[in-house]
Amino acid sequence: MSHRGGGPLRKRPAPQGPSLVRLVRVAVLTALLAVTCAVALRPHPVHPLKVTYEVDLAGAARGELVITMVCDGELPGVLNLALPPGEFGDARSGVHARDPQAHALGADGRQLRPLKVRETVNGWQLRAGGNPHTGIVYTLDLRAMPGSEQDVRRHISTPVAGGVRAAGFEIFLEPLGVPVEDLTVVLRNPNDMPVLVPWPAVVRNGLHLARDDAHDGDAPRVGDASLGYGQGFQPSARAITPAELGRSAAAAPVPANLFYHPRDMADLNNALLVCGDIRTHASQAGDCVIQLATDRDWLFTDDEALDLVRRIARTEMGFFGSAPTDQITVLLSANAITGKDRFDVYGVHTGSSVLVMLDPDTTWGTVEDQAASVIAHEMFHGWLGEAVRQTDPTMLWFTEGATTWYAARMLTAAGVWLPGHARGVLGARLDRDYVNNALRGRMSVAEAAAEVAAPAEQVRFGYAGGVTACMALDEMLADKGGHARPLDGILRRLYAEDRGQPLTRERLQSAVLQSTGVDCGPWLDAHVYGKTALPPIKSML
Ligand SMILES: [Zn+2]
Repeated sequence: MSHRGGGPLRKRPAPQGPSLVRLVRVAVLTALLAVTCAVALRPHPVHPLKVTYEVDLAGAARGELVITMVCDGELPGVLNLALPPGEFGDARSGVHARDPQAHALGADGRQLRPLKVRETVNGWQLRAGGNPHTGIVYTLDLRAMPGSEQDVRRHISTPVAGGVRAAGFEIFLEPLGVPVEDLTVVLRNPNDMPVLVPWPAVVRNGLHLARDDAHDGDAPRVGDASLGYGQGFQPSARAITPAELGRSAAAAPVPANLFYHPRDMADLNNALLVCGDIRTHASQAGDCVIQLATDRDWLFTDDEALDLVRRIARTEMGFFGSAPTDQITVLLSANAITGKDRFDVYGVHTGSSVLVMLDPDTTWGTVEDQAASVIAHEMFHGWLGEAVRQTDPTMLWFTEGATTWYAARMLTAAGVWLPGHARGVLGARLDRDYVNNALRGRMSVAEAAAEVAAPAEQVRFGYAGGVTACMALDEMLADKGGHARPLDGILRRLYAEDRGQPLTRERLQSAVLQSTGVDCGPWLDAHVYGKTALPPIKSML
């Protein structure tokens, strides 16, 4: 049992076949666990610590990261540090932390004296009393993930060509029971390795201008990094030009040192760091950079993939009126999962960036047919799930249901899917997982969707029920108000007005009321939070 909440993960029954709902579930689980952990770790407001994590990429090509965690602020006599992989609390993850060393540091950062570190159930314990500055160094080995492990969350942190891909929630040691108010992540990149940090900050282009340049007003902002809302980012002091890189324009940027400031522990955990042989291709849409990154060659071209990503991103941005962040990155990587229960495509989102894992022999047809819906779904979460924050499990029916439904509509609007194909895919899924599910009428949709580690049948019911509920809510509101697709305006209103806020039932009902004049509370009570079956859907698309 980890400190990050959630019980031990049960082995779920084998799936009946690739289902988008199931693919999508892994992404939700990841996001949800990150959120759960943020809530669990919310500090009580006494003497907050400033914590800096220095990630040394010198050994990344060998699948190794060395992290120095520097705590500024008085520590308790005994400090408990939760060890990655805190997310799962067991040793089956591919990430293994070892060789902890701790020192009391002087004001100038010099090591004054060693501190005792001992192993505990969750990680390490430090005798730290009274030090104003403390440094803890540890090594992470990412090489140990067997491909037979079916849980995609255990495959996020892994070696990739020439480097590693690492999830924040698996690499950053966390102080327990001590409030942290100021977080900084520093990447040390002595070998000038291409680096992407899609979330919360991404580095793009080759030019990194010191923040000091900001005082001379016309310093170009080329190469500045993405900022999530309220997040700081300080580019490297060392400017590197594409010519210096000696790489093609498609090579990923090479910051010598990069640092960024996660807003909170949730942001820290949400970071996805990738370094190695990465190619990137970018396209601008308004103020947003749409970026494709990959670490391998495929049976299709990078241009084809970028074009698909751009069409989806532009359609979703057009729907909401703006992008949730100033960059959207889709990272295509190989699916390393083996075994008969694996899927062809896995998708995970971190912020508005999307990691898609595909079989190396995936054809372009399969990308358009299957990967596109994963990309559209995960990207849509940049608006609904991240900008409008998904934190309350009893709202998962809406966050996931609406995202799945709108992903199909976005693909149709973008011309990636024909309407008949989208109707066929959605209709078959809803019939199988909701209409003909034995749980229909016996369990509420909200309850089924809220329990992320439930048996597969319940998860399918909750998700397909969520899609059906969103469609039925839309039709109910259309009947009362006389306007088609009222849910479109409700989603835009949530994004415009509740951005950065956790989505709650109250906020949804309020957005519905303001947008349509309808109090949907009783309807939700019956059909979503109650067991009354949803009415048949008249028009899916
Ligand atoms: Zn989802």
